[in-house]
Amino acid sequence: MAGEPQDDCLFCKIVAGQIPATIVRETDTTVAFRDINPQAPTHVLVIPKAHHKDAAALATAAPQLAADVLRETQAVADDEGLDSYRTTFNTGAGAGQTVWHAHAHVLGGRGLEWPPG
Ligand code: AMP
Repeated sequence: MAGEPQDDCLFCKIVAGQIPATIVRETDTTVAFRDINPQAPTHVLVIPKAHHKDAAALATAAPQLAADVLRETQAVADDEGLDSYRTTFNTGAGAGQTVWHAHAHVLGGRGLEWPPG
C-alpha cells in the first residue's frame, strides 16, 4: 500500500537503519543522505520516509510530503553552500530511475550542462 514500508525497498531499509548511509539531514518526514556513486562534488538524495514508488506517485498521494522533500533539497543546498545546483527526480525507467522509492537528487559543486543526457 502507498506510504507503507516495503520489505524489498533499498531506501525503506535506509530509513529503517537496516542499511548504512551517510545521512546529512533528517526531519520527521524525510531523510537526506549522500549518493553512493556521486556524480558531482555534492550529490545528496532526499527521500520521503514513507514509501512512494516515484515522484509522480508521491505528488499524487501525498502533496504535502512532496513539498517537504522539495524544501529539504533547498536545505541541503544551503548546508553545502551551493549557489547553483540541480534538483532531479528521475521518474520511470526511461528517465534513468533505478530505485523505486521516490527521491530527489541534489547535485552541485561543479558546472552542470544543459540539457542533461
Ligand atoms: P535513480 O537512478 O534516479 O533511481 O537514482 C538512484 C540512486 O541511488 C543512484 O544515484 C545510486 O547511486 C543511488 N544509490 C543506490 N544505492 C545506494 C545506497 N545504498 N546508498 C546511497 N545511494 C545509493
